[in-house]
Amino acid sequence: MFFVLLFLRSGQLQKGADQQNKPIQLQVFLHYFLHLVFPFFIAFLFFRKEWKKVYLILLATMLVDADHLLATPVFQANRCSLGFHYLHTVYAIAVYFVLLFLPKPFNIIGIGLLLHMLADLIDCMFMFNHCKVCLANAPAIEVLKAIANFFSPHLSL
Ligand SMILES: [Zn+2]
Repeated sequence: MFFVLLFLRSGQLQKGADQQNKPIQLQVFLHYFLHLVFPFFIAFLFFRKEWKKVYLILLATMLVDADHLLATPVFQANRCSLGFHYLHTVYAIAVYFVLLFLPKPFNIIGIGLLLHMLADLIDCMFMFNHCKVCLANAPAIEVLKAIANFFSPHLSL
């Protein structure tokens, strides 16, 4: 929720402060925060006794981006990963939810993967906010629109 509020706030920033690139900075900050810092808090707060191991597992779930290597081209600006890459589809995400209910370390892997999807979703929302046309053919476009409409219906996307 906190991140969604930040996202909405970034939208307001973008209207008034495009030259200063503030939304981009915020996007980069949020991305690394979710990838590196947030897992630390999860590990430390909820798995205090073995936080180092848990933190490493959470970091290791970044390997899910290996599915990008199967895409052509491997890198493309303004491409939303969600729904596009094999391990970023709704089916994959459903499996990650199931992992939450399995014993360690699978539940921790599930937490890491879902967190990763959240980080990617926030990235996609930033892109969508920045350039709606860029994502016109993105598989995740309907989800992005629904989220954007939910939080700011007045935008009428
Ligand atoms: Zn990803």
